[in-house]
Amino acid sequence: MIRLILSCEHGGNDVPDEWLPRRRCDDLVLTSHRGLDLGALELARELAQACAAPLVFATVTRLLIDLNREQGSRTMFSPEAFELDEDDRQLLIERYWRPHHEQVESLLRQALDAGDRVLYLSVHSFTPVFDGRERKVDLGLLIDPGRAIDAELARHFATEFERRRPGLAIAMNEPYSGLEEGLDRAMRARFGDRDCMILTLELNQRFPQGDGAAWRALRQAITATVRQLLEDPELQRS
Ligand SMILES: [Zn+2]
Repeated sequence: MIRLILSCEHGGNDVPDEWLPRRRCDDLVLTSHRGLDLGALELARELAQACAAPLVFATVTRLLIDLNREQGSRTMFSPEAFELDEDDRQLLIERYWRPHHEQVESLLRQALDAGDRVLYLSVHSFTPVFDGRERKVDLGLLIDPGRAIDAELARHFATEFERRRPGLAIAMNEPYSGLEEGLDRAMRARFGDRDCMILTLELNQRFPQGDGAAWRALRQAITATVRQLLEDPELQRS
């Protein structure tokens, strides 16, 4: 049996009231890809429901504190968006970053200790145009290619997904490398020697920004793919 555990670090652009006085950025920035991962939480929730899997998610804006960062990261905060002193930063870490990381870690540990093979899936999205250049990839699968079980998982994912949505561009480690800083990398450091497949999904925001039908079809294809992978006999025994 493969146990699915989901997380979504950039699910919203909430600014809790007490932090409003520290805000420097305008609404345009807050509602852009810099403020949240558009569509990511919608997909994560759909996956959680379809697969009866636990989902750890956050809706505080990544401009206030970026939960997809590791302890001591230099980019956890955005000084141009919020003016924070050292006490503020510590408070934000304790209130948002630590509980999120600890919850994911604890779910993974419990499932692994129970003897299950685990699939940890972190759901994100990326802006279709970055620095004036259009990104061609529709769905990115971020992994550590050096981990055999993750590479095999990504291959199976791509095959199953392409069968359902031929013509869409699915790519490994695009638009980012799976080796970059993130909660996935932090969990690899913790559980890299355990029976735990770790994958970050990056979906192109042109889908949630576009017409509803293509977005719905993409969500359905991803959900059906993940359900299939959880039952995949090759993934269960490899
Ligand atoms: Zn993200």
